[in-house]
Amino acid sequence: LSDKLDKAFHVLKGHGSITEINVAETLKEVRRALLDADVNFKIAKNFTSTVKEKALGQDVLTTLNPGQLMVKIVKDELTELMGGDSVGINLKGSPTVILMSGLQGSGKTTFSGKLANFLKTKKSKQVLLVGCDVYRPAAINQLKVVGEQVGVEVYAEEGNMNPVEIAQNAIKHAKSTGKNVVIIDTAGRLAVDEEMMKEISNIHKAVEPQETLFVVDSMTGQDAVNTAKAFNDILNFDGVVLTKLDGDTRGGAALSIKSVVNKPIKFIGTGEKMEAIDVFHPDRMAERILGMGDVVSLVERAQEQYDEEEARRIQKKIAKNQFGFDDFLKQIQQIKKMGNMKDLVGMIPGAGKMMKDVDIDDDAFKGIEAIIHSMTPAERSTPSLINASRKKRIAKGSGTNVQEVNQLMKQFDQMSKMMKMMQGGGGKKMMQMMKG
Ligand code: GDP
Ligand code: MG
Repeated sequence: LSDKLDKAFHVLKGHGSITEINVAETLKEVRRALLDADVNFKIAKNFTSTVKEKALGQDVLTTLNPGQLMVKIVKDELTELMGGDSVGINLKGSPTVILMSGLQGSGKTTFSGKLANFLKTKKSKQVLLVGCDVYRPAAINQLKVVGEQVGVEVYAEEGNMNPVEIAQNAIKHAKSTGKNVVIIDTAGRLAVDEEMMKEISNIHKAVEPQETLFVVDSMTGQDAVNTAKAFNDILNFDGVVLTKLDGDTRGGAALSIKSVVNKPIKFIGTGEKMEAIDVFHPDRMAERILGMGDVVSLVERAQEQYDEEEARRIQKKIAKNQFGFDDFLKQIQQIKKMGNMKDLVGMIPGAGKMMKDVDIDDDAFKGIEAIIHSMTPAERSTPSLINASRKKRIAKGSGTNVQEVNQLMKQFDQMSKMMKMMQGGGGKKMMQMMKG
């Protein structure tokens, strides 16, 4: 058996199971990454505890090592939280009416131009942009400049201070000029206030848009959550647009907003230019929030540390002749935790052939475990105590016979000797063996 275990360790160490220790270590790093990305503290905490549950229940029946598997679980869970698949824009209705909402400076006017350009070039739509920001003459001018840039007509009514009327007239105009999409740009305030909410709500009721989009600056972090909630309470919007996701903004707001209003994020803005628009992809966003490169290396480092500590601990014990049955049992449990041995081994590239002639059977461990469990703590840590009468007692207690106890003792002895021998070859070699 020592031979079998030796081989099993060699193959499996690098592909070990996910343990409490490396999960805790890893999740600490993940939580830090989320907070760095400006994800709400509570959401980050909930997220890590969900991931923990999933991770501990995972069989490592893949060719990923535990570090990689953790990263995968974290990324998948984050992707799922942000909506799984990307959600498109609803283009039904003739014309399709799209209403922009959001605070002043969030990027509504810029995004209106980007979306007009996107629908015109990617979906071959005839688009009309409508200026309903009636309070600042500069706002209408800005929309006109944007419209010119993308070659889309802009509808505005100088002197008319009633945005509901303008929106309704614009839709009539769109129908009579054969447009199939109307994008309504609205006025925002610097903060949520009643008047703004009343106005956007009135426009919303009057034009019954197919798509009401909430535009939010991804750099506003925590505030974005409250704003999103306020707008959603009034408009029950259809989707979110995250702007200013250029530079090194990590975009934690995406996760927070999605968790609070449970509406899909549909587009992201990644720059001031009209081409800087992207359909939102939850998986890419997950990578961005995690700063994937960072987390991958952090997770791997945590994993290495764990392996090295464990190897060092065992190495020390062997050096002091303290490697006992408890350590032996731990190793067996480690192996068992990984699930069905044959399946597992079969999935490791190259290992299938190597292990072909090795009969690994989960049941094989049962007797061993029973025997070790029947030993007293003293016997486990100092196997030389185990004399003939103790063997008899252990056999009886474990439902085995003395012959089997003897066999295990012999195997254990061989294994300890082998380990000691390897240690003579230098600590490095031992570490390598333990790590696989
Ligand atoms: P509005 O008040 O909601 O209409 O916001 P604007 O469209 O006027 O945008 C406010 C500012 O943000 C402008 O200076 C835009 O150029 C800038 N902006 C909008 N979207 C983005 C973006 O995705 N990236 C960057 N870097 N700037 C943006
Ligand atoms: Mg504007």
